[in-house]
Amino acid sequence: MTESVIVSEVVDDLLSLQELDGAIARSRVELQELDEEARLLEESLEALRRRESEAEVRVDGADRQLRQAERTVQAGRATVKRLQERAQEVINQRAHLAARTEMDAARQNLDAAETAMLEAMQEQEKYRAARQAIVDELAQEEAAAQERLTEIERRKTELEDEVAIQGDRRENRALRIDDSVRALYDRVRTGRTTSALAPVIDGVCGHCFTSIPKQRQAEIRGGRNLIVCETCGVILHADR
Ligand SMILES: [Zn+2]
Repeated sequence: MTESVIVSEVVDDLLSLQELDGAIARSRVELQELDEEARLLEESLEALRRRESEAEVRVDGADRQLRQAERTVQAGRATVKRLQERAQEVINQRAHLAARTEMDAARQNLDAAETAMLEAMQEQEKYRAARQAIVDELAQEEAAAQERLTEIERRKTELEDEVAIQGDRRENRALRIDDSVRALYDRVRTGRTTSALAPVIDGVCGHCFTSIPKQRQAEIRGGRNLIVCETCGVILHADR
């Protein structure tokens, strides 16, 4: 076996290692995206629930307002009734006029109280309708979110299984690679999201596109040693 064949095999092993690492990285990215999506879903439901309880507070306020208005109206009606009875009892003209004046004022107060009560009823109706709209929206959103969250959980389990299987395959593959080569690969890959290896295509590094000196190109084709790109640091291999 010539050295060139050996280096070529090492490159093959590294490429398949890289493929597995790429697959694992993609699965992890998807897992993160799913976590983020689930978080955003929970957040938007939370926001709706907050709006629902705010709407609830407004309805409670409107209920109190209405009860207050109803009590004022009842009191006003009782006053008017009492004054009416008293006006019928008085005998002289002066006392009668005084009672009439007092009753007119009480009637005006009652009118105002009845208007206020009608307004309070309208407010209550308005806030109840607003709350109902939010309750409906929340129910709809919750159903949709629940469906999506179930789907997210299912996909996450699938991805976690894949990552575990890919991780095992990666470990087995890595064991076949010489320690120093693996260390070089790990070093190059650390901090990179793309590749640790790149082919030389038309005399340039397939990763950073810097041109490779003819002498180096020949060494890479000769396949005696692993050669890294002096500009970006990836392990270079002959185009295949
Ligand atoms: Zn490069």
